[in-house]
Amino acid sequence: MGWSYRGKKANPSRGTAGLKHTLWLSPHGVVKAAQAAGLEVQTRRAGGKNFKTVSFSAKGAFRATAWFDKNNMLRGVDSTMFNPVYGDMPVRTVYSGYKNFNGVKFPTKIKVSSAGFTTLDVTINSVNANAAADIAVPDGLGSGGGRVTMEKAADGVWFVRGGSHNSVAIEMKDHVLLVEAPLGDGRTLAVLGEVRKTIPGKPIRTVLNTHLHFDHSGGLRAAASEGIAIATFKDNVKFFKAAYGGKDSIKPDAYAISGKRAKFIPLGDKHVFTDGSRTVEMHRLIGNAHNNGLYVIYLPNEKILSVADAYSARATLKEPAKKVDPFTANLWENLVRLKLDIATVLPIHGQKAGFDQLKMAAGQQP
Ligand SMILES: [Zn+2]
Repeated sequence: MGWSYRGKKANPSRGTAGLKHTLWLSPHGVVKAAQAAGLEVQTRRAGGKNFKTVSFSAKGAFRATAWFDKNNMLRGVDSTMFNPVYGDMPVRTVYSGYKNFNGVKFPTKIKVSSAGFTTLDVTINSVNANAAADIAVPDGLGSGGGRVTMEKAADGVWFVRGGSHNSVAIEMKDHVLLVEAPLGDGRTLAVLGEVRKTIPGKPIRTVLNTHLHFDHSGGLRAAASEGIAIATFKDNVKFFKAAYGGKDSIKPDAYAISGKRAKFIPLGDKHVFTDGSRTVEMHRLIGNAHNNGLYVIYLPNEKILSVADAYSARATLKEPAKKVDPFTANLWENLVRLKLDIATVLPIHGQKAGFDQLKMAAGQQP
């Protein structure tokens, strides 16, 4: 079990693989893991030097080999961890600049790269051993994304809520479109199940991905495992194909088990889905610094807009915001450029809102 805080509110973590990886691959975690498992120390050569190594794993989370130098200091860990986008994801953690902090030896530099990208680069100035920490499980902590509620937003349009990330289900003549497959198998498979119950007899054909960020795309593999096509920014397709083409040995997910190949619909600046009964538009937010391939979904007949991250209706505003989030300011510029006629906003985060709320968040008079 894990959690993180948004202000004072505790939110259940999206999965514990990453937390286990961070905990057990820390300098002290490695030693504790090796001691607990009674691991055999091996000698390996790399870069002309001898290193002592130990290998260990945590089921469903990671597999790791830790490297110690001739002074028995941990220099690095090579690991493979489960990730909802990659399946198996290679991670390299490097520890350097060891210093003695009041009798505790600890690295002053920690660098982590995940799938070849730097994901952590920190310099440590002070170390406090055995500092007091309150690690009681917070009250009211849910199980993390299991509950799914269907809120009708218009005829054939449902705002799919109940977790940290919403989706939108749109009923077409003979199929269903789903906006957003977030987080991972847990959330997205629950959403797909609930959408099928609410709209029976019509296959979910396509999932509309708002952007690449892993919390918004972590459920795309789950969708693909059921043969659902993925509509995403054209520049993402190469990345997804490579990421999905790797191994899945740590925690085979629904996609790995299905044996299916993901199908992609590459998106330009605008894409229109229509079957004569309803029109659904995807528009790229040009110049949005949140993500280069960030899309809003617009239903012209219903005057509904769905948006991720550039606007999240978490609070109800009574007057125009004085300090406008730069992502929201860019959203507003794009909405003005596109001349979209909007009445209702279904944000991926937060609650359903009237267009006046989005306007005020963008600093405009409602
Ligand atoms: Zn994002």
